[in-house]
Amino acid sequence: DAVAELISVARERESAMFTEAEGKSLLSAFGIDTPRGIEIAVGQSISDDLREPLVVKAISSTLVHKSDAGGVRVGVRRDEIDEVAARMGEQLAAAEHRLEGLLVEEMVPSGHEVIVGAVRAPGLGWTVMVGLGGVLVEVFEDVAFGLAPLANDQILDMLHELRGMKVLDGARGGEKADIPSLVTLISRLAGPNGLLQSLPDDVIEIDLNPVIVSGTRAVAVDARFVVG
Ligand code: ADP
Ligand code: MG
Repeated sequence: DAVAELISVARERESAMFTEAEGKSLLSAFGIDTPRGIEIAVGQSISDDLREPLVVKAISSTLVHKSDAGGVRVGVRRDEIDEVAARMGEQLAAAEHRLEGLLVEEMVPSGHEVIVGAVRAPGLGWTVMVGLGGVLVEVFEDVAFGLAPLANDQILDMLHELRGMKVLDGARGGEKADIPSLVTLISRLAGPNGLLQSLPDDVIEIDLNPVIVSGTRAVAVDARFVVG
């Protein structure tokens, strides 16, 4: 089937991962919101139906953390894509990566950045992790864990375990995040009929980092699927 095909192609790659676009199309198939976007070759133009501002991301089979190597540019206009690609190609080359193409997508309006991850735990199924992006996860290790399949009330309990939940709830004058949309997203990933349950054993890890949660939406703007 389609997923088996993705897995065999991913194994050929140095990084043994699905491409971001492949991962996102799987997410979409399970009703998880992702930015509208298109993969193009460097120098190719995009159709008019993508709305500015755009985000340009490097496609490179050896690159895992795109922004570390200059592989992500946000707030790009359509007429800037070629220039951005040229610069990106140079930066990637300096880090010994090859720019194989571009993923151009719509920029999602700002919101809270949440990390949703899952790792296959032998004999247990999937361990699911949720945390608040940026400094809260990296410095304070403010994360909560659960085992899939997760019911909605378990997902909500995990979110409430986070010290950063107050921030999501709009403390300190920040925007109040759309928690029901976030719960729905996590459920479509890790719920009883979710994506995780449908994946073959070869997929061992998933990272949605970040999911951008605004007042009205929860959108997975990055997707990493690791094949074992
Ligand atoms: P990396 O491989 O470096 O993790 P990401 O795809 O996560 O690359 O992009 C880096 C950052 O750029 C994200 O953490 C997010 O803040 C921002 N970003 C990426 N894609 C979008 C998008 N479509 N809309 C808005 N912001 C985005
Ligand atoms: Mg990311």
